[in-house]
Amino acid sequence: MSDHDPEAARIARARLPDGLRPETLAVRTAMAPSQHGENSEALFLSTAFVQPDSETSARRFANNEDFTYGRTSNPTTRSFEARLAAMEGAEAAIATSTGMSAILLLVMGLLKAGDHVVCSRSVFGSTIGLLGKEFGKFGVETTFVSQTDLAEWRAALKPTTKLLFAETPTNPLTEVCDIAALAEIAHAHGALLTVDNTFCSPALQRPLALGADLVMHAATKYLDGQGRVMAGALAGPKKLIVDVFGPTLRTVGMTLAPFNAWVVLKGMETLNLRMKAQSEAALAVARWLEAHPAVSRVHYPGLPSHPQHALAMAQQSGLGGAVVSFDVKADSPEAARAAAFRVIDSTRVLSIATNLGDTKSIITHPATTSHGRLTEAQRQAAGIGQGLVRLAVGLEHVDDITDDLQRGLGLC
Ligand SMILES: *Cc1c(COP(=O)(O)O)cnc(C)c1O
Repeated sequence: MSDHDPEAARIARARLPDGLRPETLAVRTAMAPSQHGENSEALFLSTAFVQPDSETSARRFANNEDFTYGRTSNPTTRSFEARLAAMEGAEAAIATSTGMSAILLLVMGLLKAGDHVVCSRSVFGSTIGLLGKEFGKFGVETTFVSQTDLAEWRAALKPTTKLLFAETPTNPLTEVCDIAALAEIAHAHGALLTVDNTFCSPALQRPLALGADLVMHAATKYLDGQGRVMAGALAGPKKLIVDVFGPTLRTVGMTLAPFNAWVVLKGMETLNLRMKAQSEAALAVARWLEAHPAVSRVHYPGLPSHPQHALAMAQQSGLGGAVVSFDVKADSPEAARAAAFRVIDSTRVLSIATNLGDTKSIITHPATTSHGRLTEAQRQAAGIGQGLVRLAVGLEHVDDITDDLQRGLGLC
């Protein structure tokens, strides 16, 4: 906002007062409006930006100032970045084309061959592939450790460890790790902690306030919230976001499309309401499942039976999030798979899909989808049995969700 138009400054959202609450920031934080005074943030579809004169152009290119070319910055994308930074309590944020490309940017910007990463082995499957396999080829080594055992994180540290990467709660078992404790371990070693905050979003959890250095998002999920576009981001201190990741993104080009930035920007205005409503519905569904005779176990941080319930409630604003998993009762893996398939295939309201963060509830069978490429032994070690069903709870009426699950569970 360096080239600020004084006319535009008189329009309400150009000069927000300090100390606004998160709900207000989610609706109001953005670039100043154009000279037309549009109330809803504009979508700027333009690859190039016209320069007033050659001097200004030379300065903008030399200092990477806004706006010159679409790979490097765009006003709509800047609004998304400003809003996410405000919601995460970060100095700055940088948008990327997908959640995975946010992790690509993180590693490309921060690390070099010979550096070492410690990461939970329960993180998103593609994150394990990106760190373990793809970056392994370039000499960045990753050690995968327990989600919950801090001693394993400590024991995995090497002189070359530069980054700890955590995701909480995990998919599909909703295991919770202690962000503040991991930040302490990282900082005592001179390393940085990055937290994938996709599952909770800043509506429930603010990792930077707990000591993390960077937050990563698959904005594809709850930030959009309606299952429309792919998007990602990193948020954190200016010296990393602007000085380290900015130049890498400009060179590599995992730029977020302005249309996608605009969709997510508008989605974020309802994030706080959606996360509360979907978490409350998920808790009701989890309680109903826990009392069901055909269900052997429910994985949900909002239930007192969850192993890290107290930590989750302290870390996630007292809410469990919108993802619930459960095991159907069965005597053998074959019977468990048949029962899980029966529950999924009997639904008439829920969507059978492998996504989450939508207003439409989604049901999936992790053992044959997100975790289908693991061997049976690896799946057993990860606790992902054939009877496990994952539910990403949306905004339908809770009774319609439980009625839909009962269609299949009633047959088990
Ligand atoms: C979906 C997801 C990702 C990857 O995001 P994409 O936008 O699909 O690339 C990363 N982490 C978590 C926790 C996710 O759910």
